[in-house]
Amino acid sequence: MEFSDVEGELSSTLFTQDEIHAKVAELARRIEADYAGKELLLVGVLRGAVMIMADLARELTMHVEMDWMAVSSYGSGTQSSGVVRILKDLDSDLHDRHVLIVEDIIDSGLTLSWLRANLESRGAASVEICTLLRKPEAARVEVNVRYVGFDIPPAFVVGYGLDFAERYRNLRGIGVLAPHVYE
Ligand code: IMP
Repeated sequence: MEFSDVEGELSSTLFTQDEIHAKVAELARRIEADYAGKELLLVGVLRGAVMIMADLARELTMHVEMDWMAVSSYGSGTQSSGVVRILKDLDSDLHDRHVLIVEDIIDSGLTLSWLRANLESRGAASVEICTLLRKPEAARVEVNVRYVGFDIPPAFVVGYGLDFAERYRNLRGIGVLAPHVYE
């Protein structure tokens, strides 16, 4: 879907598909440099990270493995509950692996700090985080995120994998959801 397909449902647009792809390429160059000569396992967090995982993995010029986890976060509301539950676990053994968690967005950071500790406890050689978007709240939490695409305002955003009640994930760009859609 294009922005024109959801006219009236966004209060503003933030990033076009081209801007996102340029940023993903930038992140890929840094990741390649940092992990040169190492075996990297990308761990995508379902379902929001599907788009960035697909684009980031293809942008990388090195071999990577991909695995997926699903954890519960917002349900259909717009507030983080802080309760994390594993809905689908990894298939890979993390022992001595270099793991890069690939996320769409960090809001409170609660999900990510829990996830990192969980993966570290499985004996990974390293666990780093790559997120396309970061909200201001996350900068205040003690979660060290090595790769951040864009810092954004504290609004509820949709598109490029991010949903509201499972909709808008297939929007190519990213925008702020208009309050009338969720109020
Ligand atoms: P956190 O634990 O508060 O950092 O929440 C992380 C998860 O909440 C993300 O992986 C998203 O699934 C969801 N989330 C947070 N902010 C937004 C948003 O603005 N739009 C859509 N989903 C969001």
